[in-house]
Amino acid sequence: MKKACITATAAFALIAGNALASGGAHWGYTGDTGPAHWGSLKPEFEMCAKGVNQSPIDLTNFIEAELQPITFNYSGLATEIVNNGHAIQANYTAGSTITVAGKTFELKQFHFHSPSENTINGESFPMEGHFVHAAKDGSLAVIAVMYKVGAENEGMKKLWKQMPANAGDKAPMASQVKADELLPQNRDYYRFNGSLTTPPCTEGVVWLVMKTPMTVSKEQVDQFTHVMHHPNNRPVQPVNARPVLQ
Ligand SMILES: [Zn+2]
Repeated sequence: MKKACITATAAFALIAGNALASGGAHWGYTGDTGPAHWGSLKPEFEMCAKGVNQSPIDLTNFIEAELQPITFNYSGLATEIVNNGHAIQANYTAGSTITVAGKTFELKQFHFHSPSENTINGESFPMEGHFVHAAKDGSLAVIAVMYKVGAENEGMKKLWKQMPANAGDKAPMASQVKADELLPQNRDYYRFNGSLTTPPCTEGVVWLVMKTPMTVSKEQVDQFTHVMHHPNNRPVQPVNARPVLQ
């Protein structure tokens, strides 16, 4: 398995999925380079077509499990905000960790999709945030947060003011946004095993989906989609044999 050899740093670079920087195969969300074609764009992307534990999924048919609370120890800061053409991403300094089922993962970056990638009992949300964490052994854990339309989101308000307008642009974080501001207070979660939702669709990713959505205003969703120019969600993938724990 290739994923065992990927270091945390390499995995992080892969997650950034930045074809502009890597000079790798271009992929996108529509047409010939859209999700249906990712698996054949490059040999390294074959898991996008061949994987059986792919993300996102429709979370349903929950299995009751004694999931321990996630321990959050977020102390780092976002250093820069990047428009990589696929998403808007904030990169994080070292020092923010979560511990889940006895294993510690460090927050590397968070980014957003619109509409949501995962769905819950068939329900899609206007936005989804992904908080990407890596363990020392290189394995990844993603905390996903759903955002529904309602009151303006204060954290996102600060973020969007600094959102680079063009793909490939980045800016230092002028006004700080803490990851905590973008997470619900109630951190009960669903858990399943999945993959990166962007090429190379590497599997072995622990997905922790917050049960409680946060709100964003309609204007905040529109601001994001206006800058992205297109939906940036991979369609849901077959669940196959995977249990979704709650
Ligand atoms: Zn994502």
